[in-house]
Amino acid sequence: MSSSPVYQRILLKLSGEALMGDANFGIAPQVMNFLAGELKLVIDAGVQVALVVGGGNIFRGEGLARAGMDRITGDHMGMLATVINALALQDAVERVGLEVRVMSALRINQVCEDYIRRRAVRHLEKGRVVIFASGTGNPFFTTDSAAALRAVEVGADLLLKATKVDGIYTADPKKDATATRYAELTYDQAIDGRLGVMDQTALVLARDHRMKLCVYDMDRPGALMRILGGDTSIGTYVQA
Ligand code: UDP
Repeated sequence: MSSSPVYQRILLKLSGEALMGDANFGIAPQVMNFLAGELKLVIDAGVQVALVVGGGNIFRGEGLARAGMDRITGDHMGMLATVINALALQDAVERVGLEVRVMSALRINQVCEDYIRRRAVRHLEKGRVVIFASGTGNPFFTTDSAAALRAVEVGADLLLKATKVDGIYTADPKKDATATRYAELTYDQAIDGRLGVMDQTALVLARDHRMKLCVYDMDRPGALMRILGGDTSIGTYVQA
């Protein structure tokens, strides 16, 4: 990074789908390795990194409920799916030489730590990557909401949402050639416009706690570092 980072502590939300690569289920090792490499650059630059990982590449409670399953059981399965992703990510991050801890909102303490806020902050201060698993630990929520919640709880100065497009657009850029990217939006614009960037619960929580959000393209090498260096020419920023 040419300039020193303008953020000290970030929370990055990775959806389960982001981990699939070109497949339509599961975890792509090359995606994990790429992400671990990007995270290494960030940690080496002195930025503290927390992650919230989704589970949509494996199970979503809503989808399971549509197929006839009890919704709460489905949500429990979805939350456990995030633990599987978190363990895979832990492994990839460890292999690039970083220290990492998985902390789960559901108690599964033979495979990872329980989420305890003060302990999470301590890990971050020591330069460990902290991966928050099991969402909020409650059914009927999403990992987007967990990301907003944990970002506020650990005092992140930026919440990042990694997506497949480089920000929020006026329409789906993959379907509409006239779609343009917003450089900046207010939370109220994102909420009222139902722009689909994060669910409404997550947006309202982030707005009410004045958490700055950046939506960016996770596949672009170096994008994360550029954002943390203060480059606002990529991604879309959402602020109160
Ligand atoms: N989930 C939940 N409570 C939470 C977070 C997640 O019940 O606090 C369940 C829910 O069923 C959800 C699934 O876990 O569909 C996977 O999370 P999400 O859909 O947010 O994953 P992503 O879309 O980010 O891959």
